[in-house]
Amino acid sequence: MSVMQLRAKKVVVAIFVAVTFLSEAPSAFSQKISPVAARREQVQAVVREAYDKFRSDTSGKNADYIPYLAQVDSKLFGVAVVTTDNQTFSLGDIDYSFSIQSISKVFTAALAMEELGVDKVFQRIGNEPTGRAFNSVNAVVDMPTHTGNPLVNAGAIATTSLISGQNANEKWNKILNFYGKVAGEKLSLIDEVYKSEAATNAGNKALSMLLAKYDRIYADPFESVDIYTKQCSVGVNVVQLARMGATIANNGINPKTGEQVIKREDVPYILSVMMMAGLYDGSGGWAWHVGLPAKSGVGGGIVAIAPGKGAIAVFGPRLDEAGNSVKAQKVIEYVARKLDYNLFSPASFGLKAGVGQ
Ligand code: GLN
Repeated sequence: MSVMQLRAKKVVVAIFVAVTFLSEAPSAFSQKISPVAARREQVQAVVREAYDKFRSDTSGKNADYIPYLAQVDSKLFGVAVVTTDNQTFSLGDIDYSFSIQSISKVFTAALAMEELGVDKVFQRIGNEPTGRAFNSVNAVVDMPTHTGNPLVNAGAIATTSLISGQNANEKWNKILNFYGKVAGEKLSLIDEVYKSEAATNAGNKALSMLLAKYDRIYADPFESVDIYTKQCSVGVNVVQLARMGATIANNGINPKTGEQVIKREDVPYILSVMMMAGLYDGSGGWAWHVGLPAKSGVGGGIVAIAPGKGAIAVFGPRLDEAGNSVKAQKVIEYVARKLDYNLFSPASFGLKAGVGQ
């Protein structure tokens, strides 16, 4: 080989290496950075727009069947987006701790999946929407599974009864610690909410006894209701709630701590549960208008998940007839539309026009 030939060969190798590096670099890079992060300014602007647009909305009213919730200042309003690469965008009353209420049901279902596997959770609880109010007695009687799904009260109390432990305290602490890991911060009980709800939860006790009649509760019924009442009384602020959602969006890895707190393979099941029943008898309308798995609580919070991208959480205590925060629904719908996030939209998966266009 002449010197010239050797030099030419070196150049070819150098070009090949450079091209390989360049063509691989962007894909390796884009795996680490979520599409939300790539449009940081846009997310920030959209969250601000939504916040300003719905800030003075006064429709709906606080839950009043739990006395504590009736007294919460209905003007409180907070919005947070946490991305899978741990960026946070937040506005408003972001330090206020509200009770997580029914949003807890998602995370107890996730813990049950961790402990028992998804098949057992499906057999023992189910995943059919009830089309009834979240605390419906009729749904328990009418549904073939009786439990319905993990996100209505009956199914949620039965899901709580699946969590193992030597005694009630051990079960409760396990649930609370798990929520904390999902949030990436220690969480605690709001004692006043717990006391207020425990004094007025005859309806949930009745549901638990009805489940016992059908053999669809898996521990002592009243003990399970008590643990369930505690889990609903856990305090979160809107950023912590968005991070809990972002952990699911991030395949079960908490974006702040980097810890795999939910098994990756459980995530699609958790999202399917949220899609079917996250907003109770408002879930069909929500799927139609927004198309993101979400969960509401009568405390006024809603968290919605854009898989692989992040989560948005909104807190506003005024609720609609189904028990879902009105402001939170409006803000999430606005943000999701502007950012093109919808589980049923090909654009959400990167197809901006039809193939061939
Ligand atoms: N703790 C509330 C209850 O059991 C939760 C209901 C909700 O948030 N929809 O009634």
